[in-house]
Amino acid sequence: MELLSGPNMGGNVWKYVKDCLDTGWVSSVGAYVDQFEKYTAEFTGSPFAVATSSGTTALHLCLMLAGVNENDYVITQNITFVATCNAIRYTGAQPILIDADQKDWQMDLNLLEQFLLEETVQQNGACYLKKDGKRIPVIMPVHVLGNMCNMDKLIQLANQYHLTVIEDSTEALGSFYKGKHAGTFGLMGTFSYNGNKIITTGGGGMIVSNDESLAKKAKHLSTQAKADAFEYLHDEVGYNYRLGNVAAAMGVSQMEILPSFIQRKKEIISYYKNAFENVGDIQFQHINDDVNPNWWMPTICTSKQKEALKSLNQQQLQSRPFWIPMNQLPMFNNNFYYHQNDCSSFLYQHCLSIPCSTYITDEAMEKVANTIKQLF
Ligand SMILES: *Cc1c(COP(=O)(O)O)cnc(C)c1O
Repeated sequence: MELLSGPNMGGNVWKYVKDCLDTGWVSSVGAYVDQFEKYTAEFTGSPFAVATSSGTTALHLCLMLAGVNENDYVITQNITFVATCNAIRYTGAQPILIDADQKDWQMDLNLLEQFLLEETVQQNGACYLKKDGKRIPVIMPVHVLGNMCNMDKLIQLANQYHLTVIEDSTEALGSFYKGKHAGTFGLMGTFSYNGNKIITTGGGGMIVSNDESLAKKAKHLSTQAKADAFEYLHDEVGYNYRLGNVAAAMGVSQMEILPSFIQRKKEIISYYKNAFENVGDIQFQHINDDVNPNWWMPTICTSKQKEALKSLNQQQLQSRPFWIPMNQLPMFNNNFYYHQNDCSSFLYQHCLSIPCSTYITDEAMEKVANTIKQLF
């Protein structure tokens, strides 16, 4: 089976993991955790990084630290992985869903602007939903597939409407907007190291921030709010959201070779773009001028989506449809969904992600390309 985006265990992974096992440093304290955080801070240009047990727990911590609570709303987008909305729900808040942009598949910023203008009121430096007067403290953009929206415009709108920005940059390690790394535009950003992400620790996540006190609080909350090294003193309700040293050892080895992964993802997308040039109605995600994406997961948009999924998977070439839009999932279908054309639905019915593991062979890519071309 050719995996959609499988883990690439190259580099020093065996050496570092063996080191953990040999020394017994296998749990939530260890040199690799610190090293992984340091590498991430360096790579992203963010002064502080805090490792977490997953991308989802990273998002949950960020939302708590931004003061989101059960009477609030958080603006996010309708096309995302469910973890974004789940993390919002863990705080008790409800997501407000903004439709996707038909071209770049990120949050539609014109719609966002229209929503803020028509549906919200500003009072004492805070944003409220007109309909019920509930507060909207945070906006959480998601960098879908490692692409990014016009961040200048998003930040400008957030400032104008008193919204704190937390980036779900879990798919965007290695993506830049005007040379600035994803996740570093707002109060905090997050990364995920789940098995299919651009690097993996088996499971894990990271928070980045340029605010030292927030980073310290994130670490504190993720460590059961431990307030004393000796006595079992905990000064608030905390969480066991820390990353283990073995996972972090994997992370360190993966960070060492991340540039080669990004390079490979770019070769893969070039291959596919070339192969599908003028083939049927196949379209790729539009990349905005100022964005240098990591091309984590090549995804195409075509009226032959269903046929393509079937043929590819029949040949053991793992491919998957786009996410079911959040407003179509049972737990979010009563949420505020702001849209004009329901572009989310269109993308769900037309997009599919195609095999793009960094170790994929040219032969496998050719097989993928030929399988799809045959449908036209
Ligand atoms: C992967 C992902 C997450 C969650 O990451 P986990 O590490 O699997 O918890 C959150 N949001 C998006 C958009 C993702 O793709």
